[in-house]
Amino acid sequence: MQVQARKTLRAFYWSPKRVNEKRTAELWDSNIKDKIASTEREFVSAAASDTKKVLPILCIGNQGTCVGSPIKGYARRGGKWLLRRHGRYTTVAWTNEHRTSQTCVFCFEQVIRPTSDKGKVCNGTSLCINPQCLAFKQGRAAQGRDKEAAMAIALAGMSAMLNGKVIAPFNPHMDF
Ligand SMILES: [Zn+2]
Repeated sequence: MQVQARKTLRAFYWSPKRVNEKRTAELWDSNIKDKIASTEREFVSAAASDTKKVLPILCIGNQGTCVGSPIKGYARRGGKWLLRRHGRYTTVAWTNEHRTSQTCVFCFEQVIRPTSDKGKVCNGTSLCINPQCLAFKQGRAAQGRDKEAAMAIALAGMSAMLNGKVIAPFNPHMDF
């Protein structure tokens, strides 16, 4: 049965039209990924300096490479393609994401996810409840979770590059 169907299947899967379409999709895919990486680098350079072009060092978390795993309905960008593409033009530092989304970057205490009156948890927000915290005193105890985590990853990456050791709040081998 399989031998009989072989010719038909091959004719379908390797038809010139299908092969062409596949090749075009591959080329476009590569082009678009290059553009995404380039736009990201430009954004980081522009944010770092408005007078001259700077070469950013990108700290990319090592937990975000889970391929094709949807977490609570959000598709996670998987694979190492972004690292590799950035790596052609600038320095990419793999950074351990340990506790980066659970720690306040101002006082290094644990943050909580705020709950609404109806009991709904807001997962996109980090709330620091330490009354001694600088952010708390300035009325900025609530921060965007991703923004704060990005800052924490930058802190962890920078401390690892400068001291050769990640600072205690983000170090998985140290109790804090
Ligand atoms: Zn704090």
